[in-house]
Amino acid sequence: MDLRKAEKRIDRELPAGGREIVSRLERAGFCAFFVGGCVRDALLGLSPADWDIASAARPEEVRSLFPDLPVLSTGLRHGTLTLLSDRPYEITTFRTEGAYSDGRRPDRVAFSRSPEEDLSRRDFTVNAIAWSPERGIVDLFGGFADLEGRVLRCVGDPEKRFSEDHLRILRGLRFYAVYRLAPEAATAAAMHALAGGLDRLSAERKAKEFSLAVAGRFAGEAFAAFPDLLLALFPSLAGRLPDLSLLSRLSPSPEERTAFLFFFAGEEELFSSLAALRFSRRFSERARLLCRAARTAPPTDRVGMRRFLAALSPGDAEAAFRIRLAALPGERETDRALALLARLRAENDLPPRREELALDGTALLSRGLAREGPEVGRALDLLYRAVVDGEAENRKDALLAYFERRREP
Ligand code: ATP
Ligand code: MG
Repeated sequence: MDLRKAEKRIDRELPAGGREIVSRLERAGFCAFFVGGCVRDALLGLSPADWDIASAARPEEVRSLFPDLPVLSTGLRHGTLTLLSDRPYEITTFRTEGAYSDGRRPDRVAFSRSPEEDLSRRDFTVNAIAWSPERGIVDLFGGFADLEGRVLRCVGDPEKRFSEDHLRILRGLRFYAVYRLAPEAATAAAMHALAGGLDRLSAERKAKEFSLAVAGRFAGEAFAAFPDLLLALFPSLAGRLPDLSLLSRLSPSPEERTAFLFFFAGEEELFSSLAALRFSRRFSERARLLCRAARTAPPTDRVGMRRFLAALSPGDAEAAFRIRLAALPGERETDRALALLARLRAENDLPPRREELALDGTALLSRGLAREGPEVGRALDLLYRAVVDGEAENRKDALLAYFERRREP
């Protein structure tokens, strides 16, 4: 794609509110443009989620230029204001960053009036392309060519940039996994060399980048090329990794793919590893459930499958079989289980869920069929089991009749 066409493409995507903000900044004499993810995504033919603006204007100058728009000042310490127009727009003052002494954050940031300074602090060439309707594409580091060649390249010396902020290593893995931007040789070498520094990052930031990366369409290729990064996040996977290139075959759910990664390590290892990175309870529980189900020998007959489905939704069961098949490629039982599940679905022969049982405790109590207390639960368990096994139909009269029959000696 030539540059002219690319500019037209971004221009088509740009919402009116953002256009007006940048134009007003320029009319007031401040250099301003869109930069980062929005330019990258628009050039890749995707619709940007948020349109971030960088500008020479200081926060107080931005504020006084837009008395008509509500403003949020959450990022003010870093020079970021959010203007609420047709959507929120983050406007960040051009910055340079001081020295990095902790490997994750600059010791101080200084405002700058220079667009060149601001662009050179950015992590990758593809994230350092700026654009505005007034200025067109500003591409100081060859980011456009890298996007076209699907190359991930640091702005400046990779070792230096990754040692400044180790999060950039995980962002790099994510851009590879999501966009298939393959790190060029020096960038890749530095990612490997500095993987050990990831432990300086907070658990939350690691968890967030991992979740985004593992869900990427090209996660298989990216993780297979950087197993050392995965091991830096989850050391307990050492020696127990599945074939990482198969990640992309699974649905893009991060919980499902995490369950696959821990297939050989096991669900307890998964749970404690996720807890160490402070994943949400919801995420961990779901990944553990899928991992456990995938590690269970798949059912081979109809009743076995119905029992399996009493504990797991059909969607989760299918996910579990797919995870197992990716971990144990070609396993015949799992192939058959997938086919059997499809058949049960097609024939509408799935067991009801426990709460869909056509009889409840009150019905048993009012007929004197069970005494108040644990007996009720046990009776319902028995009835549910009978329905799942196909011994009783899930109708109230049928269940009562079945229960009476069972009670007779
Ligand atoms: P997305 O929003 O799609 O996740 P993004 O690239 O926009 O990707 P943001 O976190 O929104 O990511 O950051 C916006 C821009 O700020 C980036 O494109 C990049 O130019 C710069 N940036 C973000 N994080 C870093 C970092 N750790 N080091 C250097 N530059 C960064
Ligand atoms: Mg962004």
